[in-house]
Amino acid sequence: MLTASLLLVSILVADPNGTPSLTAAPRPAGSTPRQTAPELLYINFEGAVLQKGCGNDPHFNCSTLAETFDGYVGPYTGNTQQRLSILQATRQTVAEYGVRVVTRRPPDDVDYTMVIYGDLGEQSFAGVAPYIDCEDLNLGDTSFTAAFTGSNTGSTVILQEAAHTWGLEHVDSELDVMNPFKSAGLSQSFVDDCLPIVANTALERTPGTCNQIHTQFCDPGFQNSHREMLLLFGEHEPDVEPPLFELVYPPDASTFVLPTTFVLRGTIEDELHPQFYDIAVFNNGEPVGDERMGVGLEGDLELVITDPEPGEYAVRVVLTDEGGNASEDTVRFTILPEGSELPEDDEGEATPEGAEACALGGRGGDRGLMLALVVLATWRRRR
Ligand SMILES: [Zn+2]
Repeated sequence: MLTASLLLVSILVADPNGTPSLTAAPRPAGSTPRQTAPELLYINFEGAVLQKGCGNDPHFNCSTLAETFDGYVGPYTGNTQQRLSILQATRQTVAEYGVRVVTRRPPDDVDYTMVIYGDLGEQSFAGVAPYIDCEDLNLGDTSFTAAFTGSNTGSTVILQEAAHTWGLEHVDSELDVMNPFKSAGLSQSFVDDCLPIVANTALERTPGTCNQIHTQFCDPGFQNSHREMLLLFGEHEPDVEPPLFELVYPPDASTFVLPTTFVLRGTIEDELHPQFYDIAVFNNGEPVGDERMGVGLEGDLELVITDPEPGEYAVRVVLTDEGGNASEDTVRFTILPEGSELPEDDEGEATPEGAEACALGGRGGDRGLMLALVVLATWRRRR
C-alpha cells in the first residue's frame, strides 16, 4: 500500500515473463559517439501511437513498452499554464547541465530524448523507462510519465524517467531525483553526493548496473547523480539565439479611422519557445509599455490597440527571451479622426459598419496610444 504522501515514481520494464528486471543496454552496433550538444529533452504532451519493433527511437514513437499502453498514450489534457509550469520546473532542475528542455518535437535529423507525458491508462506506476541505458549509448530513447497536474511531481518524474535512459539508477535519498518515491512537497535535484543504489521501491541495496560510470565518482553500489549528469552533458550552455520575431498585422502603412480597435499581431519562433519574454513597446521612440510574460504553446503576441489619438504611429516592439537575446520589429500606421474617409487604395482594415454607433465615454484629448497586452492562451506575471 502506498500512503498519501508517497507516490511510486517508476518501475522498470517487465520482461516477457512479467517479472520486473533491471537490464543494461546492449551497445548498439555501429553506435556513434555523442553528437548532440546540448542534449535535447523533448516533453511530448501530445500523446502518441506507439510503434513496436524499432527499439525506443523517439523519432518514430518507438517503444519496447508499447504493449503496456495498448499501443497508445493519450495527450495531456492540462491547460497551457500547467504545461508551462511543468516545463519551467523541468528546466530549472537541469539548469546546471547541458540539457535543453523543449515541448516541440525537434527536427528529424537531430538526436533527442523523449518523455511522453500523458494519459497512460490504468497503471500502477507514475512513470516508466524501458531500461537503464548505461553511458547513454542510445542517444535517443522514449519513456513515459503519467499526466500529473502539479509541476513539482510532473517534472521530477519526467527527469527520473529520462535519466534512466541516460544511465542513472534509483538511489535511496528523498532529495535526489532518482529516489524511487516522490515525497510530497520536497523539491528533488541531482544530488552531488554518493548515494546508495537501490533495486526497487523497498529500497533494497543493489550493486548497480552501470558501474563503469558510477565508480568514476563513488564506491561500487553508490551513484553521484550530479557528477554523472555533468559527465554526460557538460555544463549549461547559454542560449545565444535571438527569437525570430515579426509583426504581421496590421500591414505596414495601414490607415484606420476612429473609433477603432484592432490587434497588433506578432509571431514568435524560438527553439526554447514557450518561455518568458520581456516585451517592450515604443511609439515614435517613446516607451509605451514593458511587460514580462510567458507566451502560450501556440502563442503569438497580441497588442490590443483601442482608439488611439489621430496621428502617425511607428510602433516598435522589442522581444527579449530568457537568455537575454533580443529581437524587434516595427510597424507604421495612421489614425484618422472620426468621419474621415479612408484612402481608396488603403489595405488596412476599415472600421466595421455600425461601430460608430458605440461612442460611449468619448475620446478625451489626453489619451495617448493605449495598449493592452494580451497573449492568446497564456498567463502573464510581473517579474
Ligand atoms: Zn525510476
